[in-house]
Amino acid sequence: MRPFEENFAKMLARESMKYEELSKLVSQWGEEKGIFANSTPLRQLDKTQEELDETKSALEKLNDFDYQGDLMESLGVPTPSEEDLRAEVKDGIGDMLVTIILLAKMVDMDSVDCLQSAYDVIKKRTGKMVNGLFVKDQ
Ligand SMILES: [Mg+2]
Repeated sequence: MRPFEENFAKMLARESMKYEELSKLVSQWGEEKGIFANSTPLRQLDKTQEELDETKSALEKLNDFDYQGDLMESLGVPTPSEEDLRAEVKDGIGDMLVTIILLAKMVDMDSVDCLQSAYDVIKKRTGKMVNGLFVKDQ
């Protein structure tokens, strides 16, 4: 195992313990709210899309913050602080994870297992960065 893989595996093991506990609490919350009894995987995925759109919008605002923030301030238009925008991004990432944890449970899967499977595949993958995205070798 290469050093970065070792560190990532350690990090994943440490994080997944906490993630695993939290995902169980999220599932209990979903049960209590009647989400499993009254929704479907596809409706739940719509919720993921909604949260993804919110996260994207928050990230776009954060990206534009430097120049637009100054412009708006000079025009006297109230703008959210960088801290507020970062809190919006954090909220969005958390909400996406919640919807994905619930989706996995709806199709009788555990999101921790899904993450493990994904990591097992990507850890062996080679590729290169193209336009800001990792493109795998064929
Ligand atoms: Mg949200």
